[in-house]
Amino acid sequence: MKDRILKEFKSRFVTEPQLYASAGRINLIGEHTDYNGGFVFPGAIDKVIMAAIAPNETEKVKVYSIDMDEEVEFGLNEEDAPTSSWARYIFGVCREILKRGGAVKGFDAVFAGNIPLGAGLSSSAALESCFAFALNDLFNDNTIDKFELAKIGQATEHNYCGVNCGIMDQFASVMGQKGKLIRLDCRTMEFEYFPFAPIDYELILVDSKVKHELADSPYNKRRASCERVAKRLGLETLRDATIPMLKAIRPDITAEDYFRAKFVIEEKERVLAVCDALYNGDYEKVGEEMYATHSGLSEDYEVSCEELDFLTQLARECGVTGSRIMGGGFGGCTINLIKTDKKDFFIERVTQEFKEKYGHEPGIYPVVISDGARKII
Ligand code: ADP
Ligand code: MG
Repeated sequence: MKDRILKEFKSRFVTEPQLYASAGRINLIGEHTDYNGGFVFPGAIDKVIMAAIAPNETEKVKVYSIDMDEEVEFGLNEEDAPTSSWARYIFGVCREILKRGGAVKGFDAVFAGNIPLGAGLSSSAALESCFAFALNDLFNDNTIDKFELAKIGQATEHNYCGVNCGIMDQFASVMGQKGKLIRLDCRTMEFEYFPFAPIDYELILVDSKVKHELADSPYNKRRASCERVAKRLGLETLRDATIPMLKAIRPDITAEDYFRAKFVIEEKERVLAVCDALYNGDYEKVGEEMYATHSGLSEDYEVSCEELDFLTQLARECGVTGSRIMGGGFGGCTINLIKTDKKDFFIERVTQEFKEKYGHEPGIYPVVISDGARKII
């Protein structure tokens, strides 16, 4: 990819570029916890957006996307975002840096990526983070701190792409480190790195390639349930709630609210249990907690679907160590922790049996926990 990008840059521009990259991400465990003041546990992966960039001494930005085979040009003082969706991410990053008093001058860029788009691995966060990191290095002497770079990416999604996302994706893309997952406390924004470098285990994402659009907003309904229970407990969020506290108010709340809150409280405990297990190198325990998260998401939080339940059930039958929905639910990927010697067998079976049942092959993406945003040359 590096050579292709540099070659393409040379054919279009005369200057010598610097090369930057940022990564997609997984979240090992900690789902629907962010808006409840809990923990998420993401890491950057070995799939990236890579960009060759050089200042061009003008007020204009000229970017060529290799994968979309399209060049877009915009002025740094223009108010209107480009129409191409991919260019809006770059435009947004420039505008958000300028808005914060940072410097951005004209530049030429060529970029490409190998993160599957829209599969739940956050290719958009990688794109934002790659350019935010690069523009910080090229025009700001790296004076914008890394957390702020993540916020610039998040604000880009909010203000230029109509996606009201949390901070996790950009955070993991910017801060990710090889062989480490990062536990982010969504209440305080404190974070801590934990080792994730298994020897006989691998991570494989299985993409169901389905997305069930539901009439009402299940996300808002789940959120409302959590807020009602927290309020009933006299808490700001469910972060400080415990199962005994929840049981004590069970007669006063609906069964639905009870099970939603039960999942959130247990999920917070599971993240902490997984962190302990990683310190002990106990990947079997990590896997158990992943399956428990899936059951909770499916039965208590009710955000699974037939295809995802099928994928985790099949994973269990194939001896996969841990498997669960990754992301909000109702479609998308499962994340699977698997012993290396079972990998081929699982991939073959899941590909074949999923296709037989649902008419199309799932996407199979092996991932390794790797570095996030960085300068390459
Ligand atoms: P994801 O879950 O992968 O972040 P999104 O829909 O949020 O899915 O972001 C995908 C968008 O990001 C694409 O539509 C495109 O605009 C942009 N994008 C991602 N990867 C690339 C790439 N390699 N080249 C050009 N644009 C990309
Ligand atoms: Mg995205």
